[in-house]
Amino acid sequence: MHDHHDGPEDGDIVAPPPKIPVPDHVAEAIRTLIRWTGDDPDREGLLDTPQRVARAWREYCAGYGDDPSHHLSRVFEEVGGYDEIVLLKDIPFQSHCEHHMAPITGKASIAYLPRNHVVGISKLARVLHAFARRLQVQERLTAEVADCIWNHLHPQGVAVVIEAQHGCMTGRGVRTPGVGMVTSRMMGVFREDERSRAEVLKLMGY
Ligand SMILES: [Zn+2]
Repeated sequence: MHDHHDGPEDGDIVAPPPKIPVPDHVAEAIRTLIRWTGDDPDREGLLDTPQRVARAWREYCAGYGDDPSHHLSRVFEEVGGYDEIVLLKDIPFQSHCEHHMAPITGKASIAYLPRNHVVGISKLARVLHAFARRLQVQERLTAEVADCIWNHLHPQGVAVVIEAQHGCMTGRGVRTPGVGMVTSRMMGVFREDERSRAEVLKLMGY
């Protein structure tokens, strides 16, 4: 059940308390940035902005305090003979690029073919968010999610496909709104066996 007063959609991620103290030097850095853009940090509308920005960044980067592998530590050994692909499809996420600290907005599809272990399906999304809520590049995010599942679940195969838009492309420089970037990582059977790879990509809608 969703509590409507409780802010972020994905209540399963533990955000820092909303009113953590912001050290003066952090607020001052943001005031400097505002000045650098050409605006006046002392103007009324901007007075509380450094505090808000500082706290927002703690949330955007909450993944640094979240060990992704921890989410895969509780596994179920009994899979009841299930030997088909487990897929969590089109998981929305937000990250920030490490080159511009601009938003990366996209969706990820994460699949694995279990060997002996399965995890609760929401754990795949938690692994994604733990890596996404850091300064990232999309290629590394894709690889980190896949590697984490591979190393901790020891499945027969892992497939991760991420499709995202980059604020640093849509909002500046070459300005190409609507252009998405797709990255993928295939491991185990999804890498070695063309039929398995085709099957998982089809399930993902590619
Ligand atoms: Zn960038």
